[in-house]
Amino acid sequence: MSELVRFEKRGAIGVITVDNPPVNALSPGVPEGMAECVAKGNADPDVKAMVLIGQGGKFIAGADIKQMGKGNTTPTEWRETVEMSEKPVVAAIQGYALGGGLETAMLCNYRIASETAKIGQPEVAIGIIPGAGGTQRVPRLAGVQAALDMIVGGEHYPSSAGKDLGILDDIYSDDGFLDAAIAYAEKVADVRPLPRVRDNDAKLAEAKDNPGIFDAMRKKIARKARNQRAPYACIEGVEAAVNLPFDDGLAKERELFKELVAADEAKSLRYAFFTERQARNVPDIPKDTPITKVASVAVIGGGTMGSGITMTCADAGLPVRILEMNEEALTKAMDRIRSTYEVSVKRGSITAEQVEERMARITPVTSYSDLGDCDMVIEAVFERMDVKIPVFKQLDQSMKQGAILATNSSALDIDEIAAATNRPESVIGTHFFSPANVMKLLEIVRGEKTSKEIVASCQRFAQQIAKVGVVCGNCDGFLANRSRVPFNLEMNLLIEDGALPQDVDKVMYDFGYPMGPFAVADLAGNDIGWEGRKRRYAANPDARKLPIPDTICEMGRFGQKTRAGWFDYKEGDRTPYPSDVVEKIISDYREEAGITPKSFTEEEILRRILFSSINEICKILDEGIAYKATDADVMWLNGFGFPRYRGGVMFWADQIGVKAVYDQISAWYDELGDRWAPSPYLKKLAEEGKSFTSD
Ligand code: NAD
Repeated sequence: MSELVRFEKRGAIGVITVDNPPVNALSPGVPEGMAECVAKGNADPDVKAMVLIGQGGKFIAGADIKQMGKGNTTPTEWRETVEMSEKPVVAAIQGYALGGGLETAMLCNYRIASETAKIGQPEVAIGIIPGAGGTQRVPRLAGVQAALDMIVGGEHYPSSAGKDLGILDDIYSDDGFLDAAIAYAEKVADVRPLPRVRDNDAKLAEAKDNPGIFDAMRKKIARKARNQRAPYACIEGVEAAVNLPFDDGLAKERELFKELVAADEAKSLRYAFFTERQARNVPDIPKDTPITKVASVAVIGGGTMGSGITMTCADAGLPVRILEMNEEALTKAMDRIRSTYEVSVKRGSITAEQVEERMARITPVTSYSDLGDCDMVIEAVFERMDVKIPVFKQLDQSMKQGAILATNSSALDIDEIAAATNRPESVIGTHFFSPANVMKLLEIVRGEKTSKEIVASCQRFAQQIAKVGVVCGNCDGFLANRSRVPFNLEMNLLIEDGALPQDVDKVMYDFGYPMGPFAVADLAGNDIGWEGRKRRYAANPDARKLPIPDTICEMGRFGQKTRAGWFDYKEGDRTPYPSDVVEKIISDYREEAGITPKSFTEEEILRRILFSSINEICKILDEGIAYKATDADVMWLNGFGFPRYRGGVMFWADQIGVKAVYDQISAWYDELGDRWAPSPYLKKLAEEGKSFTSD
């Protein structure tokens, strides 16, 4: 018998336990082990029914993703052994039953779950479809529309929803769950004929009567799923469940699965999945570094970011104290938080009750003496050193020893901030992205003196608040924003040289960004960048000027909020319409500057924008500010909306080839000047024939 699955008898019930830590994944040996145990139960005259459960309060989290795309085909006979068992098998789900986990449960005759369990078919998130019967069995249990929603959406569902949908038969408390499962198995031991999901076609009728259901789904996902194959294949799989006999449906699902698992989309999504996990590894910070566990947080400043950070902490169940300059600003911050929550209630993503629970975790304060016992403080005041330094002097005096003193600065020198305190080892950057309660990225910025314990504590904190933490070193703009600077410059220079904002936006949207970068600028407000440029021009008369966006701002075209920016906007309509005014500004500028407009191909636009940032990332790696190219990918995926099904900007560049990227950058260096000077790191990789992300 496989060591990964064991069989024990509890009276007349055979208990089959999957024991494959840490998450009981379906690694080689587990499926075969389950089949052997079911066969054993069937062969034992004393066994009347069986329970399939996972060790450690976890069912089967899913397939082993590491095995995917390697061409290993797991034999499938084990599924038949489980599904065609002569005695009833009850899947007893605690923790997660996702993907292959839920598919295994659907091979069983009954499914019960604990109150806290989650189920789902999230395969679409890694570019595939359920490949072990999910597309055939979920619609038979839950109905066709619900199956489409679950499989195409890829979300995790709480067990209560699983029961409402008909996927789960019953729910029990986590306490004494195994006993409840055994009692359930005893109750159904004599039921014949055995219910098998494959035989139950009743819920397919819904779509037989309404075949438009599939096209409606395709239409619904068209925008979000553009350039992707997996979401459409999920629909085809469910369609096959309705239109084909069960075994033919399974064969169709298998065919689709095979096509997808080896394709670039799945490779990129698997890369993104593993790269996010790898980001937790920082070269000089061992896994067993002691940490400060964060059980309470203070936030200084309740503006755009401070209020978002406060909500993020409250959402994660942490008590938060928020400090503002005065009562008035504090009231404004609390109002802002409440109204943002209320929008979520209107959208249906949280309940009014949850808002009250979260608001109750937030305490407004005006004195530093009210913060001292918090484990962590996050400063989010104005982005000015002369405002931040006095705040940190105060924090040094009032916070308990060992507390994490974090700044949300986007670009300021962490070491200078740390030097304002007598404990620079406790000072660190925790850079959230806007909106802080939505964006997943947390850039963790190490100062020169930041201790390893504080870095490791912030990594843990990121997990605690459901963010993806990525550690990097200290420089102007850190890794994320600094790597975006050339992108922003290049999109503006393309406009000077011959492209229009709508051309650039179309290319980036078609590539997979949710919006084009000019439309994003209009959404965020063009005045933000303008203020920054004015400061840079004042500080450095030689700073590169961007006359086109400057003129646009001088005309008050700040974006959506003024109903005019790079594009024109109509009342109550966020659609960007190409603007004659902007086209005139651009053509006037070109005439004045003596620029003969060039015409760019879509590929040139895309590559000029992305290659410029790739070169910058190489420079940051060369300086040792970033630890690995893959970290930049994690940041771009979670902070900048880079399309996940392309893996990341460095992974994407690897598909083109480091040498080809280097050659193009060198050619642009000759043609366009110093800003394209290739990074020595890039040159070295190209010469050595290496890649960014896999060596
Ligand atoms: P904001 O102007 O919206 O908010 C700043 C808040 O700090 C204001 O409410 C102000 O009253 C308060 N404040 C100022 N001085 C204070 C003091 N001494 N004590 C207490 N409160 C004080 O600014 P924001 O956009 O929230 O930015 C805050 C920080 O976050 C900045 O460092 C900024 O660079 C950074 N950041 C901003 C963004 C963004 O997109 N807005 C993104 C990432 C990081």
